Amino acid sequence: MSQLIFEKSKKGRVGFSLPELDVPASSFSFKVREEIGLPEVSEPEVVRHFTLLSQKNYGVDTGFYPLGSCTMKYNPKVNEDLAAMPEFALLHPEQPEKSVQGALELLYNLEGFLTEITGMSRFTFQPAAGAHGELAGLLLIRAYMDDRGEKRDIVLVPDSAHGTNPASAALSGCQVVEVKSNSRGGVDLEDLKSKLSPRVMALMLTNPNTLGLFDENIVEISRLVHEAGGQVYYDGANLNGMCGYVRPGDTGFDVVHLNLHKTFSTPHGGGGPGSGPVGVKEHLVPFLPVPMVDKKPDGQFFLNWDRPKTIGMVRSFLGNFLVAVKAYAYILTMGGKGLKRMTEDAVLNANYLLGLLRGHYLLPYDRICKHEFVLSTTPLNKFNLKVTDVAKRLLDLGFHAPTIAFPLIVEGALMIEPTETETKETLEAFAKALIQIEKEAETNPELLREAPHNAPVRRIDEVGANRNLVLRFKN
Ligand SMILES: *Cc1c(COP(=O)(O)O)cnc(C)c1O
Repeated sequence: MSQLIFEKSKKGRVGFSLPELDVPASSFSFKVREEIGLPEVSEPEVVRHFTLLSQKNYGVDTGFYPLGSCTMKYNPKVNEDLAAMPEFALLHPEQPEKSVQGALELLYNLEGFLTEITGMSRFTFQPAAGAHGELAGLLLIRAYMDDRGEKRDIVLVPDSAHGTNPASAALSGCQVVEVKSNSRGGVDLEDLKSKLSPRVMALMLTNPNTLGLFDENIVEISRLVHEAGGQVYYDGANLNGMCGYVRPGDTGFDVVHLNLHKTFSTPHGGGGPGSGPVGVKEHLVPFLPVPMVDKKPDGQFFLNWDRPKTIGMVRSFLGNFLVAVKAYAYILTMGGKGLKRMTEDAVLNANYLLGLLRGHYLLPYDRICKHEFVLSTTPLNKFNLKVTDVAKRLLDLGFHAPTIAFPLIVEGALMIEPTETETKETLEAFAKALIQIEKEAETNPELLREAPHNAPVRRIDEVGANRNLVLRFKN
């Protein structure tokens, strides 16, 4: 790895030069905390440092990113331009309502789009991500149960669930009980029935699930949970696999979260903050966080704080507003037909890639998939290789690795989600790389075990890193 900027520091070296002061000094000054020991470097060194760092970053703008469950689709740049308009970007959350009518209208309309897409009644934009939405959604259900005088404290979570589901359930103060999957990868109805009780507050479900498979029993599952007095929570991270075709609200879900940074194309993590709006059916609307954006009879939009049963706020103001702007622009660009087409292409791409890879690795659930599918690297166990070795070797071949080791019900899982924004050629090149790795596993397993060979950082010592955690650079 190239030298860290701290290592380039030379005492007294500065990145600027100013002429001698020929006017009285101002009392205004920037306070640099000397004791933190900032590196002393020249301007070109600073520029090179950040430019080199930026080149080490791998993102969807530099290459294929088949990270299953995460829907790493292309983020259209026009949406970034729109969100950067000063009329949006420079708004202050404490501005008077009459000066932010356009922003409120945008949220009001976006809420309308999301209710139409999902079949829910209303949405809050406060949660900053999917996991945050899960917690908010469970708190809403809890408030609803409290309001009815019901004490329920169990959340059912399928064994194929994303790790945030049990985590959110535990954070909401509930006990987590796992529900088994059946041989087709869906919820095992008998196991579900055996776990329903008057203590069950909710079932959390992802559909299509993390195997990329649509649960055909979804209506029956919702009915069973409702019959037992529980609520059904939709983890919307996989909406890309059914958007425009099936509405979670129509299949019995009471609460949904969406990940605007997945289905609705806004950047993830490093590209900016996320947004996990939560939508509910009518009976849960009174509990939604404050404020809600409402419309007066004269057409004026306002922030409605007068909601006596609200759970309060789960985040400041109206959430990550600029993310909502990008998602709004995306939905308007796509239109209803475009959103259906998005799902069609995502499903087509996933099945094409699955077709290229069928017969290679192991396919534990061999069905037509939705937007993603899961392979297993267990056939490589005989060469003493693990899924990590395949993932690291992919980096050498210029691809970001798929999600690995998840869902937990598949040993050696490679969860692959190509998304709709990739070309046929990219899918073919990726399949070729995975097939090459499968061959290398047999002929040269050491090559995989020591990969990556040409990434900026070699394989880290994960055990060492866990045992001896160093969280900051210290000179
Ligand atoms: C991504 C994801 C989440 C969590 O969403 P974040 O926005 O990353 O917090 C939850 N469930 C599933 C299935 C996911 O893929």
